[in-house]
This record gives sequence, structure tokens and C-alpha cells, in this order.
Amino acid sequence: MTVKQAAAERRRTGGYPARRTRDAPERAPEILTRLLAAYPDAHCALEHRDAFELLCATILSAQCTDARVNIVTPVLFERYSTPEALARAKPSEVEAIIQSTGFFRNKTRSLIGMAQALVADHGGQVPRTMEELLSLPGVGRKTANVVLGNAFGNNAGITVDTHVARLSRLLGLTRHSDPIRIEQDLMPIFPRDHWTLLSHLLIFHGRRICIARRPRCEECVLSDLCPSSRV
Ligand code: SF4
Repeated sequence: MTVKQAAAERRRTGGYPARRTRDAPERAPEILTRLLAAYPDAHCALEHRDAFELLCATILSAQCTDARVNIVTPVLFERYSTPEALARAKPSEVEAIIQSTGFFRNKTRSLIGMAQALVADHGGQVPRTMEELLSLPGVGRKTANVVLGNAFGNNAGITVDTHVARLSRLLGLTRHSDPIRIEQDLMPIFPRDHWTLLSHLLIFHGRRICIARRPRCEECVLSDLCPSSRV
């Protein structure tokens, strides 16, 4: 299915394309070029000074806004500035600090468990491989991608959060909902050296223009490339 056929199908059905369009590999480079031009300042919104802080912030960001995480983390890092300090933390004290991020008991378990694993197995350092990161409590592929890409400059994969997942479907780049399957669809059609930045670009676009439930297609630089465009 081409982008034009997908647009016709959307008009017919009143819905969004349910599958990846056949010309996704051809459209992907132009999508990237336009997003790069539109958001030259795209970057990781989670404030951090090193890999340990980014790992903690990313664990806290599950089901929570980056803005809320950025309010909580300065307090957390003031109290627990190293993996060793966090590994020894009393759960009730961590819970009190991070409560506003939601799911705070699970997140506290993940944070302390992760810090204990860093101390016990990695000399107090954040490991630099996907396999080692995935072995840490509370760390899934999304978190590992964020840390590898933004703290270590390693484009090991593409971070698929709610914005990236939603925009990838709207743009006809995937038909999947599962983040792993979406990542597998995106990786072959975007250059590897842009994988980390691609996530930031899609997140910026999802926050500013392609807003959930009210996408501003008339202002969108991708409207002629997007099978879900309303213009
Ligand atoms: S704003 Fe509209 S045209 Fe732009 S990516 Fe979203 S759905 Fe497509």
C-alpha cells in the first residue's frame, strides 16, 4: 500500500492506517530530514549529569511525565548521589521522595535493586552493554536504549515510548503496538547513527504538533508524507 492508497483508505474508513505502508522505507529518510530541520534542539528531556542519574531518571519516567521526573530527581540525587548510597537506602525514604511519580513502591524496589546490582556486579558503574543493562532490576529494553544512546553515545536500538509508538503508526511506519516490534520495523529504515536522535525528534513532534487526540496536521511538516494527515 502506498501513502496515497493509505490516505484513501483512511478517508474511506475514517480511521488511521492499520498497517505499515509499502513505501515506508522510501519516506523514512525525508521524514528524518524534515524533523531534523524542524527540531534542531531535540534532546533527551530527562535531566541528568551522568549515566547513573539517567538510569534512575528513566526508571522513574515509566507512566510519568519527564517534567515530573525532573522535579523529583534533584531531591533524590542530593540524598543518594552514588550507586553505593542508593544501594543502602531505606525503601520508605526513597518512596517518600519519588511518591509523586506514581507506582512508587515498584520504582523504589527497582531503584534500590538496580543500585545494589551495580555495586555487587559492576564495580558501582553503569554497564555499557545491552545484555548487562537488561540484567539489572527494573531495566527493560526501552530504559537500556535511553542509557546507551544518551549517556554512552551508543545507538544500540531505538527508544520506543508512547509518542514514538503513536507517531510510528500514524506515519504508516509500523502496524504494531508492541514496542519491540515497532523498534524492529523502524531500525532497518532509519540510519543507525540517528536512532537515538530519531526518538527525541518524534517525541518533540508528538508534544508540539502531532498531539494525541488533536494532531495539528495543517501545521505539520510531514503532512504530505503522512497517510494519517487530515489535510
Ligand atoms: S500531525 Fe497529522 S500529518 Fe503530522 S504526523 Fe500527525 S497525523 Fe500525520
